Amino acid sequence: MLAAFVLVAATAASTPDAIIEGAVGSTRAYDTLEYLTDNIGPRLSGSTNAAAAVRWATESFEKWGVAVANEKIMVPHWVRGAEYGRLVSHRNQHIILTALGGSVATPGRGIAAEVIEVSSYDELKSLGPKIQGKIVFYNNPMDMELVRAHRGFEAYRQAVEFRGSGASRAAEYGAVAAVIRSVASASLRTPHTGAMRYDPKQPKIPAAALTVEDAMLIDRLLKKGDRVTMRLVLTPRTLPDVASANVVAEIRGSEKPDEIVLLGGHLDSWDLGTGAIDDGSGVAMVMETMRLLKEMDLHPRRTIRAVLFMNEENGLNGGRGYFVKHKGDKHVAAIETDAGAAAPTGFRTTLKGDALANLEKLAQPLSAVGAAHFETSSETGADTSFLIEAGVPGFGFVPEPLKYFDYHHSPADTLDKVDPKELAQDTAAVAALAWILANQ
Ligand code: ZN
Ligand code: ZN
Repeated sequence: MLAAFVLVAATAASTPDAIIEGAVGSTRAYDTLEYLTDNIGPRLSGSTNAAAAVRWATESFEKWGVAVANEKIMVPHWVRGAEYGRLVSHRNQHIILTALGGSVATPGRGIAAEVIEVSSYDELKSLGPKIQGKIVFYNNPMDMELVRAHRGFEAYRQAVEFRGSGASRAAEYGAVAAVIRSVASASLRTPHTGAMRYDPKQPKIPAAALTVEDAMLIDRLLKKGDRVTMRLVLTPRTLPDVASANVVAEIRGSEKPDEIVLLGGHLDSWDLGTGAIDDGSGVAMVMETMRLLKEMDLHPRRTIRAVLFMNEENGLNGGRGYFVKHKGDKHVAAIETDAGAAAPTGFRTTLKGDALANLEKLAQPLSAVGAAHFETSSETGADTSFLIEAGVPGFGFVPEPLKYFDYHHSPADTLDKVDPKELAQDTAAVAALAWILANQ
């Protein structure tokens, strides 16, 4: 009797180790990511590529014998057009920029106007009437000391302030367009896009991101006292909303099937790159977790539910739609992986105190891949934020963030930025945590 008990206990304790071993022993997560990025490509919401990604992910789960469903949501359909800028005042030199997601187009021949630089909304306000008829240039670099201190996400949150609301704030003072310095920690003259939104009370003016190099050029010219005028041409279009879907796959719990551990990433990406680090790698970790658990014939006590969210980048309709449909479900944890695929470090979590101490003990096996560090935070992911606000314990996977914002939302977010071994370790970390939470 005692021997049998010891045997059961030993088996139970070793399952996370076996999962970690299984994940690090293969490059299948990378193979999955390779197909998603190289064969399907960029996957902005509403695009035919995004629809192809939904079909492919669904068919992959089916092929692996994992129960899967598509849950319909409506998504915006914004299509980038031509985009270029020239410094009319400085020998018409070409500058490199990209429209922010959601921007309106410039008039046909573009906008030509003087550039006025600000680094805060206070400065914008103090300039007041001087903004009229100008292109407002928000020059707000990432704090590289924070980036080097491995706190890139904090630096990002500070620097991104003007991307979302900068155009409408400038329009309030009569600006004709707004440009931001790309929110990036490194640049080989690649622009970094991202979502912006219009305040319905203000006129809609076009908005773009300059490369870091071009932002620095304009800043230097203005600091010398030059008058800088820019011609800006952007031709994006906002088409009618499109029906799309979250992909939801499950391994049902053996004892408490109604209790759910959610593991999610987002299937959509920006259109400039192929979304390898944002968030193809998260998708690959989630898909490989389900494939591995199924293949190992493991039966968690609670249900493990994988959710590949649609439209994280420019609307969050997948996260919102999932919450509306499933807020009555008993989620015991929500793990989100949307921070790239560098070597694992651990997780941010909403847990604290005894609950956190207890989990840290259970999660010891994650130290095998360097992922046993947990840090309390109220922000663990965008798609799962609705669940977290409703009180579900949240977990946000944290790979090493040092280089993430070098590539994020830029044409350089491609497969070659991901190391197959690190992605396998990441997969091990999220798979083991999902298992532990589903069995504790
Ligand atoms: Zn993302
Ligand atoms: Zn993103």
